[in-house]
Amino acid sequence: MKISRRIEKVKESPTLAITAKAKEMKLKGEDVISFGAGEPDFDTPPHIKSSAIKAIEGGFTKYTASSGIPELKKAICEKFRNDNGLSYEPSQIVVSCGAKHSLYNIFQAVCDEGDEVIIPSPYWVSYTEMVKLAGGIPVILDTKQGDEFKVKPDFLKKVITKKTAAFILNSPSNPTGCVYNRSDLEGIAGVLINNKITVISDEIYEKLIYDGEKHISFASLSKEAYGLTFTVNGMSKSYSMTGWRIGYLAAPSKELSAAVGRLQDHSTSNPVSFAQKAALEALKSDQKCVAEMVSEFEKRRDYMVDRINSMKGISCVKPKGAFYVFCDISKTEMGSFDFSKKLLEEAKVAVIPGEPFGWDTHIRLSFATGLDDIKKGLDRLDNWLKARK
Ligand code: PMP
Ligand code: GLU
Repeated sequence: MKISRRIEKVKESPTLAITAKAKEMKLKGEDVISFGAGEPDFDTPPHIKSSAIKAIEGGFTKYTASSGIPELKKAICEKFRNDNGLSYEPSQIVVSCGAKHSLYNIFQAVCDEGDEVIIPSPYWVSYTEMVKLAGGIPVILDTKQGDEFKVKPDFLKKVITKKTAAFILNSPSNPTGCVYNRSDLEGIAGVLINNKITVISDEIYEKLIYDGEKHISFASLSKEAYGLTFTVNGMSKSYSMTGWRIGYLAAPSKELSAAVGRLQDHSTSNPVSFAQKAALEALKSDQKCVAEMVSEFEKRRDYMVDRINSMKGISCVKPKGAFYVFCDISKTEMGSFDFSKKLLEEAKVAVIPGEPFGWDTHIRLSFATGLDDIKKGLDRLDNWLKARK
């Protein structure tokens, strides 16, 4: 049977594939340490689980409004107001099955065939594929490690054409952990506003931020920035709720959220009813659980960065957010797939190659795994590097 040209063009997700392979090896009894995880290792906090159990037992198990239950949309608006200084009406919110789904919906809603979407590199692996699925053309904008992997306005100007439909901003970033400060954002906002480019601001790692840095939502910069921006966020990373599949977007107008809503009506319908209740509980209850996770992540990050920078032939920039270290392996003279494959086979340590993030000179290590395993895995990496000629 034939496969559509649309799907033929799309690559499998290497982050999901490698994480699954490491899990499978572990299940077979192999002693693998995985730095692949793109999800917090902590359990979902008990009060959030209880609210879902209560919802199921209370019969909250039917279809809901396709774009999300009103009380959750209201809580999301409160979150935006309190955390981000952003004022949205519930009618501007669409709740979806994870932030990945929110992003997919946005690309479908804003891209026409042949439209260009600017993606700063290194980038999260799914952006390019989602743009292609929407008929768009990914335009890769390379950044420099020396600029902390941040987009500079002059380089941004150079890639804008008449066909540019949108720009993706991901701060804190997967895979680099870079965090844009106000002046970084104002620099690129000038260019984007002048050229009236739609901004898709993926803020899923907003809460996972270190060294007292502060997350700034692009839409909060000015009225003009607000008018151009879709703000995307979700429950997965902040509340350790990856499997619950709740993400959301805020659109700059009711017309745009309604367009996304129509797509959702005819594709997935509502995100899981009781998972929405759990998301409501997560947003409305005490945020202590988030602070506890962040403080644990920060300790692990510090340990991992120090160890990597003391190893032979590899180095990394200290990430200010998210839970990844993007590690430079260029001095080893191995490509990222070759490096990752040999490391897994010879030292039983799983990492994600940088090539699918646009950088073959790097690998990604996640510190969303316990400190004991981090120590063990880094010992193996260190010894493996020392044993190479
Ligand atoms: N954006 C980025 C940058 C991510 O790393 C992820 C993780 N999968 C997502 C969006 C989507 O997360 P989810 O669909 O679990 O909400
Ligand atoms: N975003 C995570 C990662 O980059 C989860 C896996 C995925 O959805 O790609 O590893």
